Amino acid sequence: MNKYVVKILEASFINDDVKRFVVEKPQGYTFIPGQATEVSINLPEWTLKLRPFTFTSLTKWEHLEFMIKIYRDHEGVTKKLEQMNAGEELILHDVFGAITYKGPGVFIAGGSGITPFIAIFRDLFKRKQLFGNKLIFSNKTSHDVIMEAELTEMLGDKFIKVFTRENVIGYLDRRIGRDFLIRNIADFSKEFYVCGPDNFVKSISAILLELGVQPEMLVVEQ
Ligand SMILES: Cc1cc2nc3c(=O)[nH]c(=O)nc-3n(C[C@H](O)[C@H](O)[C@H](O)COP(=O)(O)OP(=O)(O)OC[C@H]3O[C@@H](n4cnc5c(N)ncnc54)[C@H](O)[C@@H]3O)c2cc1C
Repeated sequence: MNKYVVKILEASFINDDVKRFVVEKPQGYTFIPGQATEVSINLPEWTLKLRPFTFTSLTKWEHLEFMIKIYRDHEGVTKKLEQMNAGEELILHDVFGAITYKGPGVFIAGGSGITPFIAIFRDLFKRKQLFGNKLIFSNKTSHDVIMEAELTEMLGDKFIKVFTRENVIGYLDRRIGRDFLIRNIADFSKEFYVCGPDNFVKSISAILLELGVQPEMLVVEQ
């Protein structure tokens, strides 16, 4: 397994519990939009604690970018990352990940599961090939939506927000279930990309398959 020690160049919160890190890009380091790497912290006792995070930057950018949800409820890696700032170091490892773009379709994300889709949308938008794609993004409240302005700019009315714990005018307030998917998706023969917490991915994938999505058209992290 390769190891790359990189310096943090910028670190700041983009909402209450998601922190954006811009880090150095190792020479020759490359990935496909949607892919991830395992990250650890280059401090004593932390180097062997590897956690997967997805690149939200584009391959050609000079630096790498991550958006990381901080879990403050226990002493894990993300809680430690809350204290990490510019000048400190992370360790990156090999690139991996099954979520890559296969063609136009419907992207369904829960919380920080949006990160692979951010990279894919940025890439398609830059290449003017985002047309035909739709995003359904579920969060607890409107404060939890990562990158709302940029996603709106890229996707326009093909960006549907769902809130599970809030009533806000202009947003849909419900869980993504069978009825919701039938109402919001016209064509189940396209590609479907699902990313988020395990139970979110499992339940939505099961409904999509039941609604006729072909297994080979369903893209999820294995
Ligand atoms: C391929 C892939 C890509 C990913 N990309 C991203 C990304 O780009 N951005 C992002 O934010 N996340 C991403 N994740 C999720 C991310 O890897 C996890 O959130 C991270 O590993 C959590 O690390 P941790 O050490 O802080 O928590 P861990 O200890 O690993 O715990 C993770 C989960 O368990 C709960 N938990 C565990 N132990 C306790 C405890 N004692 N008390 C309470 N709760 C507990 C936490 O609340 C959390 O939900 C990705 C995951 C995968 C598989």
